[in-house]
Amino acid sequence: MRKLIMIKYGELSTKKDNIGLFLNTLKKNIEYTLTSLEHEITFDKARMFITGNDIDQILTKVQNIFGIHQIVIAYELSDNTLENISFHLLNLLSSTNFNTFKVETKRSDKKYPISSMDISRKLGGIILKNKENVQVDVHNPELLINVEIRQNKSYIYFDKIKGLGGYPVGVLGKGMLMLSGGIDSPVAGYMAIKRGVKLEAVYFESPPHTSIEAKNKVIALAKKLALYNNGIKLHVINFTKIQETIYKNIPHEYLITIMRRMMYRISAKLSYNARGSIIVNGESIGQVASQTLASMNVINEAIKMPVIRPLACFDKLEIIALAKQIDTYKTSILPYEDCCTIFVPKHPVINPTLDKCYLYEKNFDYEKLIYEALKHHEIIKINPQEKSHNELL
Ligand code: ATP
Ligand code: MG
Repeated sequence: MRKLIMIKYGELSTKKDNIGLFLNTLKKNIEYTLTSLEHEITFDKARMFITGNDIDQILTKVQNIFGIHQIVIAYELSDNTLENISFHLLNLLSSTNFNTFKVETKRSDKKYPISSMDISRKLGGIILKNKENVQVDVHNPELLINVEIRQNKSYIYFDKIKGLGGYPVGVLGKGMLMLSGGIDSPVAGYMAIKRGVKLEAVYFESPPHTSIEAKNKVIALAKKLALYNNGIKLHVINFTKIQETIYKNIPHEYLITIMRRMMYRISAKLSYNARGSIIVNGESIGQVASQTLASMNVINEAIKMPVIRPLACFDKLEIIALAKQIDTYKTSILPYEDCCTIFVPKHPVINPTLDKCYLYEKNFDYEKLIYEALKHHEIIKINPQEKSHNELL
């Protein structure tokens, strides 16, 4: 008998033709996360198995991987005879205290001579005979004993741990997350990763108007996302010149609209260069002037690439609850300002028009500014396996 981790796929098992791609990606992602631990992974269309000498550590790590519906610590037996199963089951139960129990059996080996119900019944009878003061309770058992009969092998397990669900990261392609230091964008990123999108991130900084602390905050947030994304590449764009030029050259009520059109243009270029097909951001309908439907329309018009807004229909309280759940909230509320807050006009337009955008954008050579910002930008590669970033932040 050996102890291992068994993974159930959930939603993934509904993928028919491309299940191979999904499962191979999941395996690769698990391998990446377990780089520092000795392990071996095998899988078929129903289950994935991970063996290794530190099962508890492996268990902790796989809980952060998307594409997993359920995780169990299982005991694998080298055959599937009822004698062998009952022998090992009694051994496992000898040190377990419980009053009521239920046995549930699954048979993936349909040629197995005994039905699932009968196996459960027989094993139940053996337990009743061998353990004192225990009873069967089919509705609300203290101990649920799961037995799986597979070809040539069988498995016993007790507790089930909920996995993160979603799709394995990378299986749906790539995208560029606009990552500010705020509450919303890390949550938006998390949700996109959960749908299988491998992200890179872009942060627009405006030194000296924005501080190094603001940038470090974004790096800290990127590091949280890196855990789920197999690492993350963070592009830092120096936005100072673009922002100052906009500030000098256009009516202030349009500052944010034009500034965001520039951010979109740069993000789309970065996404394209990274072989991505979308931009992801933390916009939410109506949250601020730049997120009215009219603003979104006018800002979006600057690029052709689709913009995914996972939080579009969430209210702030729902977003905050998610941010707490994924542990980005505490970092997001640190008080350092990002570039948007410094150049915020008193009365930003809430119904901008495209005609005005075209008109104002003629006031300066934005193509050249974008070209320069992209040419000199900094790239920070964040690898969650490396300790050094902990020390940095
Ligand atoms: P957040 O939305 O992340 O809480 P915020 O509310 O300050 O931050 P908004 O002004 O609402 O940001 O901007 C909407 C979205 O635009 C952000 O969620 C983020 O995706 C993107 N964004 C804003 N500022 C930046 C920036 N400096 N760098 C990268 N992306 C940004
Ligand atoms: Mg926001």
